[in-house]
Amino acid sequence: MVSKCYCCNVGEEETIQHIFLTAPIAQKLWNHFASCAGINIEGLHLQQLITTWWDWPAKHKLRQILKAMPTIIMWELWKRRNARRHGREVAYEKMKSQCHKTAQMLLRVKYPWIKGGDQDWKDMIAILNTYKPKLHFRPVHWDPPDADCG
Ligand SMILES: [Zn+2]
Repeated sequence: MVSKCYCCNVGEEETIQHIFLTAPIAQKLWNHFASCAGINIEGLHLQQLITTWWDWPAKHKLRQILKAMPTIIMWELWKRRNARRHGREVAYEKMKSQCHKTAQMLLRVKYPWIKGGDQDWKDMIAILNTYKPKLHFRPVHWDPPDADCG
């Protein structure tokens, strides 16, 4: 017998798909992060959803953040499920901002020189999508030695 879930008030069967994907609050969280990133996740199973994020064609630095998002989102959903199991409520907005904060931290750790770690999710994507590294260069000139110098 499958136990009832803690994520909805209705109490659906608690399956992996339900907790992490099909529960209304999970759908809302995924949709928020996916739609801002231009990722279409409609009709995907959990595994397909994760690999869609992993394989999403984006600039290299943005990809590193997108790749981490399924783990970040699922971790927050799991924490909320456990909190509710023990009688504590976790608001949707709290989960959303926690996911975003974790993404910001990842950005700061991975690319400390990129400004924009305090931007919201949408701006963060825009910054990473248009990021161009500043190239520092110094022209170097070399003259061959004279033939008779020894
Ligand atoms: Zn549920």
